[in-house]
This record gives sequence, C-alpha cells and structure tokens, in this order.
Amino acid sequence: MPASIIDGKKKAMAIREVVARDAAALAAEGVVPGLAVVVVGQHPASQVYVRNKRTACRKAGIESFSHDLPEETSEEELLSLIEKLNRDDGVHGILVQLPLPAHIDSARVIDAILPHKDVDGFHPENVGLLNLGRPCLAPCTPQGVVDLIESTGTEISGKRACVIGRSNIVGKPVAAMLMARNATVTVCHSRTQELDGEVGRADIAVAAIGRPEFVKGSWIKPGAVVIDVGINRREDGTLVGDVEFKAACERASFITPVPGGVGPMTIAMLLKNTVEAASRAIVR
Ligand code: NDP
Repeated sequence: MPASIIDGKKKAMAIREVVARDAAALAAEGVVPGLAVVVVGQHPASQVYVRNKRTACRKAGIESFSHDLPEETSEEELLSLIEKLNRDDGVHGILVQLPLPAHIDSARVIDAILPHKDVDGFHPENVGLLNLGRPCLAPCTPQGVVDLIESTGTEISGKRACVIGRSNIVGKPVAAMLMARNATVTVCHSRTQELDGEVGRADIAVAAIGRPEFVKGSWIKPGAVVIDVGINRREDGTLVGDVEFKAACERASFITPVPGGVGPMTIAMLLKNTVEAASRAIVR
C-alpha cells in the first residue's frame, strides 16, 4: 500500500490557529508578542523566507519589526542593533536571517542574542539546555520534524531512527530530540559508509542533506516513517526534497512531501516560540 502523505500545511495551520489564540490572550493582558526580523543584504532566498515570516506574524497577531540592513553593514553595527533589541521590552523574539554576509561572524551575532529572545533556538545556552533535556527555546525545523512524526501516531520510543545530516540547525537537534524521546538514533553524514544500510534499518528516517532525491526509495525500510527536510530547486524552478519521493512512497508508511511538509512547520514553530518567549516575559 502506498504511503500516507503527511500534510505539513494542514498541521502547521492548526498550530498557527492555537498560536493566534495564545497571542490574543497575551494581548488582552497587555503584552503584544513582538518579533524582530533582521536581514543583512539581499540574499534572494532570505527575502522570500522573511516575507513569509512577516506575513505569518501579522496573521497570528504577532507584531513584527523589520530591520533590513545593507550588505556592507559591519559586524559591530549589527551587534549594536542586537544590543538595542535585547533591551527593548516590546521585542520578545529576535531572528537574524542566515546566511549573513561573509565578513560577519554568525556565531558572534547569535551569541549576542539574549537566550530568552532566541526564537530560532540557535544560542549555545538553548542548544545546551536542549541536549540536557531541559526546557528551552528549541529550534523550529527540528520541532516541526518531531511534531510531524508524532502526528502520524507513531510511538517514537524504542524505534530505530536514522538522521541523515548533522548540521547544527537541523540534523544534530533532530537527533537530540528523538533521543530524548527514547529512539535509538544513528546520525549519518558525508563520511558515513553504507548509508543505504543505515537507512534500511530505520523505522524513522529523517533526511536533511540538501541534495535532490539523494535518498533512494529502495533504501527505505518497508513501513518506515520518512521525513524529508531538504528543499532543493531544480533547473526548471520546481522544488524537490532529499528523498526520491515517488519510489519512497511505495515502501514508507508515512512520508512528507516537498513542498508542503516540513517547510510550513518551521514557520509555525517560529510563531509558537515567539508567543512562548512573550508569555515567559510576563512571569519574568
Ligand atoms: P547543511 O549543508 O548545513 O548540512 C547538510 C548535511 O548533510 C551535513 O551534515 C552533510 O555532512 C550531510 N551530507 C552532505 N552530503 C552527504 C552525503 N553524500 N551523504 C550523507 N550526508 C551528506 O544543511 P542544513 O542542515 O542546513 O539543511 C539541509 C537541507 O534542509 C537543505 O536542503 C535545506 O535547504 C533544508 N532545510 C529546510 C528547512 C525547512 O524549513 N524545511 C529548514 C532548514 C533547512 P557533513 O557534515 O559531513 O558535511
């Protein structure tokens, strides 16, 4: 039987409705959740992502503050903006769109964001808390991945999970979150030998590589849940994931499409983190 397609758009809309209700409740208490979105330069993909994030904020009742800085902005100028946003009580979340221009040290910029305003979950304090299994602002895409797996009704505990990709923003936190849910996790990367065998043993396979249809459908364990994080643009302009979707559908029990899978969840989780950061500001 072909796999059931996990509808990330629908799931994300449901989350966004809850977030909008929570944001309205906070506003009634006098706190309008605020997200500062900082963009440096004219990276074309960033422009699209940022526009989508701003629209999503508005729809959820989150105020978004735009800071579009020119490409030649210095690291010191960016750091002094972050300082200003850290001190601004109307800003509960700070998002610095990556990648930054090469002359700016991204790590220094991320480190400068107050951890309780780090709605991307990239600050070392949040990374540490996540790995310790303690409450934190968790990164958005990995939260979306885990939520989509759970939405299938799959019990993660005790399952073999294979995460392909070990980036700080996707692979590593996904692995940490699955391990925290008692999966037995294998993390694969560009030096992994016999990747097909690793994927073939996995009840849950998460691909976050950035290579079109790299994971072959024939590798998938029959009945596995497949989450495709990859977003790759083909020459004809269409988007494709990291998994050979059609062939994987023949073996998986559940699978995310690209687009319409993990992507919409990332924005939903960003809104959720922003409202969470704002609600923590009330008790602070
Ligand atoms: P990175 O480039 O930071 O990491 C890619 C990972 O894939 C690395 O760990 C790399 O291994 C591994 N890799 C590369 N080639 C191979 C190979 N041949 N075999 C096995 N592993 C390999 O990417 P990101 O984690 O930032 O993103 C991954 C994908 O997810 C991209 O397509 C990106 O666009 C997408 N993405 C989607 C989001 C969404 O909202 N849906 C959000 C974020 C990302 P090594 O460490 O050894 O180099």
